[in-house]
Amino acid sequence: MKKALVTGASRGIGYAVAERLKEEYELFLICKSNPDLMSGLPGRHYTGDTGDHDFIEKVINDMDSVDLLVNNAGIACFDLIQDMTPEKWNDVLRTDLSSIYNTSHFAAKKMISRHSGRIINISSVWGLYGASCESAYSAAKGGVNAFTKALAKELAPSGIAVNALAPGVIDTDMNKNFSDEERADLTDRIPAGRMGTPEEVAEAVYLLSEMPVYLTGQIISIDGGFI
Ligand code: NAD
Repeated sequence: MKKALVTGASRGIGYAVAERLKEEYELFLICKSNPDLMSGLPGRHYTGDTGDHDFIEKVINDMDSVDLLVNNAGIACFDLIQDMTPEKWNDVLRTDLSSIYNTSHFAAKKMISRHSGRIINISSVWGLYGASCESAYSAAKGGVNAFTKALAKELAPSGIAVNALAPGVIDTDMNKNFSDEERADLTDRIPAGRMGTPEEVAEAVYLLSEMPVYLTGQIISIDGGFI
């Protein structure tokens, strides 16, 4: 059976991705805390920080191959730049960007040796266009997009596809702090008239994983026409 590593699988988009992949892949799932939330999912479960290089090395050492890597773990951060502390800045960059280096670093070695594999990064439309009061998040996701394009070029000769999905507003815990008014305002601005669902992003991840490897280096928005 093919093997997939999905980060941030305890809830939201990552959980939905794991659900969508579970019939076709042996799953290796990571979350930061609350591993109980993954108990309904098959496969091996790990609790740790994707920003921790040594932790990721141990997880990927357990995999004899990596057919699919879904880099989904991420955190948001809403702050005026003058209120952004170095701790918050570094936490966002570490979680949203350095994590993807960590997993790709170890997974690529296994993929290259088999001349096969796919990496799908979950970035954000804010990585393409920037969001007010989300400078760290936008910078990190912009970094993910550039990383995706660069790594696609590096790994294409090895038969490996690297792409990113850039969601707009998806109805997950990440957005739970919006007031009803903010939710309504956001929804009004989305041409599809609603937030996306984690299952829709998961379906896009699955379909992208089935595409020819010649489709690589792309940042594909999934945003209901938002941007
Ligand atoms: P969520 O907050 O519901 O879930 C985040 C998951 O990431 C959890 O499983 C959590 O355990 C894990 N995680 C966070 N930090 C981690 C760390 N350091 N180490 C290991 N795991 C960690 O979020 P979500 O809405 O499902 O978002 C998933 C991804 O999609 C994120 O990268 C996010 O930036 C991106 N995204 C979300 C939206 C949205 O509107 N929800 C929009 C665009 C992009």
